[in-house]
Amino acid sequence: MSSLGGIKMPSCLPLLLTHERVLLPGSTVRLNVDTPRNMHLIKHRLLKGTSLKSTIIGVIPNTRDPEKDTDDLPTLHKIGTAGIAVQVVGSNWPKPHYTILITGLCRFSVSSLLTERPFVLAEVEQLDKQEQYTTQADGVSAEDGELQELSQKFYQTALQLLLHCASKLFKGQGQIIIHRFPQLFFCRTGPLRTQFVGLGVSAHPQLLGMLDLSVPVVAKFRRLLDSLPKETLPDVVASMIRTSNKEKLQVLDAVSLEERFKKTLPMLTRQIEGLKLLQKTRKIMPAPEKKVLSVRKGVVFPGRQFNLNEEDDEDDGDDTASLERKVHVANMPDAALRVCLKELKRLKKMPQSMPEYALTRNYLDLMVELPWSKYSKDCLNIQAARTLLDNDHYAMDKLKRRVLEYLAVRQLKASLKGPILCFVGPPGVGKTSVGRSIAKTLGREFHRIALGGVCDQSDIRGHRRTYVGSMPGRIINGLKTVGVNNPVFLFDEVDKLGKSLQGDPAAALLEVLDPEQNHSFTDHYLNVAFDLSQVLFIATANTTATIPPALLDRMEVLQVPGYTQEEKVEISHRHLIPNQMEQHGLSPKQLHIPQDTTKDIINRYTHEAGVRSLERKIGAICRAVAVKIAERQADSNTEELTSEGHTQQGAEKAAPPAMPIVIDHRALKDILGAPPFDMEVSERLTLPGVALGLAWTPLGGEIMFVEASRTAGEGQLTLTGQLGDVMKESAHLSISWLRANAKRYQLTNMVGGPDPLEGTDIHLHFPAGAVTKDGPSAGVTIVTCLTSLFSGRLVRSDVAMTGEITLRGLVLPVGGIKDKVLAAHRAGVKRVIVPKRNEKDLEELPANVRDDLDFVAAANLNQVLNAAFDGGFPGTGSVLERPQLNSKL
Ligand code: ADP
Repeated sequence: MSSLGGIKMPSCLPLLLTHERVLLPGSTVRLNVDTPRNMHLIKHRLLKGTSLKSTIIGVIPNTRDPEKDTDDLPTLHKIGTAGIAVQVVGSNWPKPHYTILITGLCRFSVSSLLTERPFVLAEVEQLDKQEQYTTQADGVSAEDGELQELSQKFYQTALQLLLHCASKLFKGQGQIIIHRFPQLFFCRTGPLRTQFVGLGVSAHPQLLGMLDLSVPVVAKFRRLLDSLPKETLPDVVASMIRTSNKEKLQVLDAVSLEERFKKTLPMLTRQIEGLKLLQKTRKIMPAPEKKVLSVRKGVVFPGRQFNLNEEDDEDDGDDTASLERKVHVANMPDAALRVCLKELKRLKKMPQSMPEYALTRNYLDLMVELPWSKYSKDCLNIQAARTLLDNDHYAMDKLKRRVLEYLAVRQLKASLKGPILCFVGPPGVGKTSVGRSIAKTLGREFHRIALGGVCDQSDIRGHRRTYVGSMPGRIINGLKTVGVNNPVFLFDEVDKLGKSLQGDPAAALLEVLDPEQNHSFTDHYLNVAFDLSQVLFIATANTTATIPPALLDRMEVLQVPGYTQEEKVEISHRHLIPNQMEQHGLSPKQLHIPQDTTKDIINRYTHEAGVRSLERKIGAICRAVAVKIAERQADSNTEELTSEGHTQQGAEKAAPPAMPIVIDHRALKDILGAPPFDMEVSERLTLPGVALGLAWTPLGGEIMFVEASRTAGEGQLTLTGQLGDVMKESAHLSISWLRANAKRYQLTNMVGGPDPLEGTDIHLHFPAGAVTKDGPSAGVTIVTCLTSLFSGRLVRSDVAMTGEITLRGLVLPVGGIKDKVLAAHRAGVKRVIVPKRNEKDLEELPANVRDDLDFVAAANLNQVLNAAFDGGFPGTGSVLERPQLNSKL
């Protein structure tokens, strides 16, 4: 066994075959171990060994060991470095492997191979004589003058390099040099420190002192240079400066000290020249942003340059400099800047391998990307805005009027705090697309945030950075995406926000949507305030019922009712059909959908307040026509190709369709199938005990048939159709009122008596039994239905009604009148009975709907019944009141 400082160097060493990096004596490298032979070495030798000797292994460069467990050993390099394993870290991802941190001790050559499996074991001969390093304090032997000269020159050149670096170091980049001298870190801590002091390879006592960064780094490095034995310098310096693997191999192969000096000296000089050149070019280049790459292109330096100011993004330490510059130009408020600079300072001190490095880096990247003071200029021209809104959307007059009002005020007062508009209406009525149009009108960026199903407040406000995988919330993310601080944010489906143990996202939205607070919105991830006051927020919802009251309070609700049939026809021909045709590559010369067909689609194929399903049906027609046209084109192509003799055959085929293809009723049935909604209202009202009510759902208004039947019994009331408590109470109220007024309306029971319930069981049913229903507005419908049942008279087949009742027979107002009336209009109803106090809501209806319908404003049930039955109830003394519908606008 040979001696190696305080440790005995074993004559038989396990060999780690490396292909990626070269370990030189005196340097520390981290190696990736994933080939079977090397993995065995780590497992069986390093991890199982207990003595210091068992941590010494040979690292020998070679071509890559095969991944598969084959017996063929790749050719080994003739010289390797014995090293001491300092740290082994195992991981299973992406595949099982170890990372080993190893410090080189001395060179060796392989005398003979002992075993090749499971790992390579070889008899070795030590080449560097350790005595040289430890006993001769002043380096080389006195008789070797040339060597002394070389060593002196090397020392001087190393000092020169140090001086060049120093100018940079004092500009606050001292830590970088520490990164480049891993052995300095290595010796700072750990139980092996003392052993390395004993080895005298890289852990000189002075070196340990160097780690105190309070004294300028350069001075300490200088001391290191002075104190290290001169013969160790070539290896140490070659591993510190950026040299290619090939060059490092040359240094490794240089067994004699003289040769080693000769090999390393040019590398050192080249490094200095490179630095000088960079400094020169930097002086010439005025803009600091310019990269040094151009300089590199001109001069070919093998390997990576030791360049402290390198601005390459891939460069590990130095891109903090470019980050710092970005921080300064991001134009952020003082508070944010202070936080950024603090984080930057921390980042600079952190080694890259630390998990926190990536976190801090990501944080700073986000901070510099945020549009702290970037904004887009509003292009406000009310006339142009009006045209644009009209072009994009048909109808929606009230909504457009309010949007224009907002834009007009903005034009007069630029600093207007953004009001929060909330569009409430059934699906497919264009709420989202109006939001998009507003952004277009203003010339602002548009960003949509879907809130449906969001039940974690961190989704809005971000996670604190202490959590693993923390992210900013959707608001900050949205701002980063749009890159300006005054976009239009559309909060889609605010009524569908959830709630969970992770907090209430609606509460988090309160701060965002309050113009008084949102100038200092603090995302948990950012932890500094961001001014949202210039953002124009628009929210959409299907109903206001499920929006938390506090949130609703902060928004200006604009109802967007469903469309009438006429409006839908117009929307189809102005927007939907041209859009769909364009999307399917069709032109007006190829497809024509007449208005009658559109009406047919609206009435018999769709059943909705909006136009989404109508758009889908038009899409289906376009697809069918596209197939026809494509087939025709294919036919004509093949006909062209075939000879004249075959034209006879072509003529036998069905004649190609004439252009444009017109979609009539028959074609419509062929494409869309049998119409699913073929409901004729009058057909359903042919029996006493049926009345037509109007209901409101988040999907718009609906008509609802209320049915009643009676059998001999004990006076029991059965209610079916999944009714809520309020609706059940309405049914009881109706029966009580009817019992009290039976004589007046000549109602009789099964046995001909005046009490409707005597000897009679009543069953009331609300169809669509699978849907839960609740609310008081069915009161008048239940009374009408039961009156029809007890009087044996038919309710008028063209009457629909809505209204809450009281025990005294008064009719109280209800909500959703517009949607309900539109649903009645869609269903072909002619007369609509509404509560008297809802008369004002009728003014908002489109003029054609008001003209088509006969409205009865009822203050009490007497008026309802007289309007619902042909000829009324003689002797009840009611005069029908027709509402006056003169619009004041
Ligand atoms: P919502 O957000 O209300 O559910 P969308 O905004 O997504 O509905 O609209 C659905 C489709 O209907 C879009 O293609 C939109 O362009 C179209 N649309 C709705 N209303 C109109 C309208 N008044 N004029 C033109 N297109 C409309």
